[in-house]
Amino acid sequence: MPLRPLDELDDLEEIGLSRLLPLRRICSSKACRGTARPGGRHCLACHARAVQRYRDRHAQQLTTRRRDAAVLRDEATRAVDSARAKLAMALRRGTMKRGMCQICGTADVMGVIEDPQQWRDVVWVCREHRAAELERRREDAAQCTANAQQAAWYDERARVLAAIELLPPDERARLEALAERGPAGMRLSPGAPLYVMNLVRAYKAWCPLRDAAPLAP
Ligand SMILES: [Zn+2]
Ligand SMILES: [Zn+2]
Repeated sequence: MPLRPLDELDDLEEIGLSRLLPLRRICSSKACRGTARPGGRHCLACHARAVQRYRDRHAQQLTTRRRDAAVLRDEATRAVDSARAKLAMALRRGTMKRGMCQICGTADVMGVIEDPQQWRDVVWVCREHRAAELERRREDAAQCTANAQQAAWYDERARVLAAIELLPPDERARLEALAERGPAGMRLSPGAPLYVMNLVRAYKAWCPLRDAAPLAP
């Protein structure tokens, strides 16, 4: 069931954001009274100016870094091409032999090279099962991404829960009351995963100027 975002709940308005205004962080730039970005020391305008100044000052380095990245990308492509060429040569010379499709055992196979540095570790698959093999790899990669997202969520959760601990008890109680509200009027207990998600959301919706944005890795 899709969660209704907590920042749409009427209760958030009842809480009164004005109570939190003393927590507003001021931009660190001299003579600027702007509001600092979440997780940053400066307001949006000062931050944008600082980024531009940095780019102007480091134009040469940035160009070099971009060029190096392009070279690395080319190197990766070259490594793959070279691994394929080495495999083709080894097959022609007979120092390596094609295997059977690892899924169906057919002899009409093509080689899939996982790591160009380890080009002898070839996975042999028929045309039909090559798609399955590539799909498996995409799934592995997607799993890695999902794990990274999960780790980021755990980080954020720990940081927000720690920040909530520091709030005055009455403000904390009001966040906890919001977190208890489950879908369809269900009341969530503090141990429920959804309760913790609600608590983190409520804190972030309620306290948008606090340092609740995930840190850049
Ligand atoms: Zn500023
Ligand atoms: Zn096959």
